[in-house]
Amino acid sequence: MKPPIQKLTILGSTGSIGVSTLDVVARHPQQFQVFALTAKQRVEELAEQCQQFNPRYAVLGSEAAAQRLRALISSDIEVLWGEEGLALVAAHEAADTVMAAIVGAAGLLPTLAAVKAGKKVLLANKEALVMAGPLFMDMVAQSKATLLPIDSEHNAIFQCLPADYSGREQAGVRRLLLSASGGPFRTTPLADLATVTPDQACAHPNWVMGRKISVDSATMMNKGLELIEASWLFAVDASDIDIVIHPQSIIHSLVEYKDGSVLAQLGNPDMRTPIAHALAWPERIESGVSSLDLIAIAKLNFEAPDEQRFPALTLARAAAVSRGDVPAALNAANEVAVEAFLNETIGFTRIAEVVDRVMQAWPRGEPRELGAVQEADKRARAMAEQVISQQA
Ligand code: NAD
Ligand code: MG
Repeated sequence: MKPPIQKLTILGSTGSIGVSTLDVVARHPQQFQVFALTAKQRVEELAEQCQQFNPRYAVLGSEAAAQRLRALISSDIEVLWGEEGLALVAAHEAADTVMAAIVGAAGLLPTLAAVKAGKKVLLANKEALVMAGPLFMDMVAQSKATLLPIDSEHNAIFQCLPADYSGREQAGVRRLLLSASGGPFRTTPLADLATVTPDQACAHPNWVMGRKISVDSATMMNKGLELIEASWLFAVDASDIDIVIHPQSIIHSLVEYKDGSVLAQLGNPDMRTPIAHALAWPERIESGVSSLDLIAIAKLNFEAPDEQRFPALTLARAAAVSRGDVPAALNAANEVAVEAFLNETIGFTRIAEVVDRVMQAWPRGEPRELGAVQEADKRARAMAEQVISQQA
């Protein structure tokens, strides 16, 4: 019997993950139907996607952008805007699967709306889980949502764990190994880091990604956020997760079992692999990614991360251990600092300094509800902005 067609909402369809998702979906018109597409402000790109995929809904960030879109596309497509529009398409009863690919804290509410509605949630928006870890995972358990990781490392770990995984001890797992490329500045002389430009920071050696995650990869805050993400997704203490630098980005992460076996997932660095894996799970579909040519690659290298070069890693590991609202504050301060770096208000090495200042002054709290997480996010943003304006 043919499986029923999966109806898909893509939150952040004009971004790097959104476009890769549509690339995979277009290869399987019998299996997937696009139900809703969303973007913040790229009206023309969203219009083109609407013409190609003919969704039932399109959502934009503002009323003005929604008006512009209406003039460009078929009136059969309903155009909504703002947080309410996002929540509606994320939780709509006619949608089966939600790709959460908005960048940053802006993705929290729509992602949680999809979780609460019990959807199959494909999680690229790691910031949402970093901010609200325990509340997020409790909601997954209560709503019986299916949560599948899109982040390549977490998708790799998911693939290396047993299908009935219910915790590290039961599965006989000794530790998780998150691999990291080390980004564009792995070997840049330390003295030059203060003056690197946004374009240099966004020129990742192996992956083409949105600008925020590209800067996070350059500071390695991305790996720090991923450490927190992994600890929630797989219910593992941060102390049982190690980070290994692997510049070729061929091994996407590893799981070490207590008998000494180490399982890894390998593949070309192309996000269409984890996206196709999660879209079709537990089956497998073509993703458009070429075969891995190990002979051409010839060498896989590994090294320890240098915490002097990447102080963001130390800050994130401390936040992972502290838990409470500390990861939400870390994430918020980082978002503000990255934005300031991209706007050329602060230099590259100041990003981790700003986050450090906020972390040092942060009065740790234990958020019991979503409102407290949002409050922590808001407060940490204000603190980061103050640090930046004092030092500017
Ligand atoms: P991107 O900047 O390319 O795209 C972001 C998308 O979110 C766009 O469609 C944009 O319109 C939308 N968006 C941004 N701000 C918004 C707001 N305030 N309200 C509503 N929509 C908004 O980002 P990306 O690289 O595709 O990353 C998306 C998420 O996936 C991030 O959380 C990132 O960490 C994660 N991720 C990305 C990659 C990658 O290869 N790009 C890999 C792993 C994880
Ligand atoms: Mg990743």
